Amino acid sequence: MMVTEQTMEKYAELALRTGVNLQKGQALMINAPIEGADFTKIVVRKAYEHGAKDVHINWVDDELTLLHYENAPDEVIATYPEWKVKLHNMYAEDGAAVLSIRSTNPDLLKDIDPSRVAKANKAAAEAMTTFRKYTMNDKITWSIISIPTGDWAQKIFPGKSKEDAIEALWDAIVKIVRVDQDDPVAAWDKHNEGLRIAREVLNEKNYKKLIFKAPGTNLEMELPEGHIWKGGSAESEKGIVFNPNMPTEEVFSVPHKYGVNGTVASTKPLNYGGSLIDHFSLTFKDGKVVDFKAEEGEDTLKHLLETDEGATRLGEVALVPHESPVSQSGLIFYNTLFDENASCHIALGKAYPTNLEGGSAMSNEELDQHGVNDSLTHVDFMIGSEKLDIDGVHADGTTEPVFRNGTWALDMSGK
Ligand code: ZN
Ligand code: ZN
Repeated sequence: MMVTEQTMEKYAELALRTGVNLQKGQALMINAPIEGADFTKIVVRKAYEHGAKDVHINWVDDELTLLHYENAPDEVIATYPEWKVKLHNMYAEDGAAVLSIRSTNPDLLKDIDPSRVAKANKAAAEAMTTFRKYTMNDKITWSIISIPTGDWAQKIFPGKSKEDAIEALWDAIVKIVRVDQDDPVAAWDKHNEGLRIAREVLNEKNYKKLIFKAPGTNLEMELPEGHIWKGGSAESEKGIVFNPNMPTEEVFSVPHKYGVNGTVASTKPLNYGGSLIDHFSLTFKDGKVVDFKAEEGEDTLKHLLETDEGATRLGEVALVPHESPVSQSGLIFYNTLFDENASCHIALGKAYPTNLEGGSAMSNEELDQHGVNDSLTHVDFMIGSEKLDIDGVHADGTTEPVFRNGTWALDMSGK
């Protein structure tokens, strides 16, 4: 059965209420694929019903993006337009909510020279530094969701026709984001409560170090003093509760940028800006990547690591039990929003300052002294599986199981 108008309405409602938590009189900026115009128009209509004062849409289209990469000269590829920066900063300064609908074909840029893609990514990251502060410090409310698009759906379901693949992907997404439930907003409240318990247990534990062991992985990761585990809903500077990612199944914190040693192997393919990196591993010494290899996309991985100094260090550690609904779907989505929520993951690049006590108010130097990484980039990749064990090491050296066989070994029942 094709996705119904009613399901799309429920999803749009969920994105506006539980996602960005749009307030009366607030502006909303949406990044949306043209293929998803039907859904996006529902979101816009509902946003105005909720009292939005203005809704602005940045349409994106895979075909047009590809034409740009194929044809534009290098100097255009390496420049991010000033007007786009201004547009984003103006909405952010005005306190707008930002909803991003991400549905890119993971193979879109596979035939484009990775150095051109890297140049474009870097230019965008540099240009958007100010805007990124608004989102990464929770100064505004923001949320990332996805809806099916044809090429992406067929990548996940290669045997199906475009229509059938889109339908199958709608089915999967609707379940994963709990829109199949009678009251998705209430289901999310309950889900967020579970994540709140998990992050509180870990904050209470206050581990000095985590040790990851799995096939190809033996990694010791220090956590900085004053690190905070977060997860589920977040709270903006103005006290508005929102969900930055839908789905989200993770609790996450910040690794010490100088305190990571050993090797970690990826467990799922990584779609990095339209290029795939797969079956890769990274070796760290004192927080820095000193060796890497990839069976697929090694060049792309190299460019990612060369973005800047911070791109060779970690900015996030996230724990996700293997029985998460995304994992249960059994699908590989080739889309980080989903795949990272099926699996424990870590991120190369910038850390969230909000993962450190007082971090949002610290200068870059202070964050560095506390072991919090900075970079133009932040790229999550998946390291979890049913074979992953994690130990937690306390300050006094005592060690206990945190994860066994890919899931919690700690009591997360809240009792
Ligand atoms: Zn994460
Ligand atoms: Zn991340």
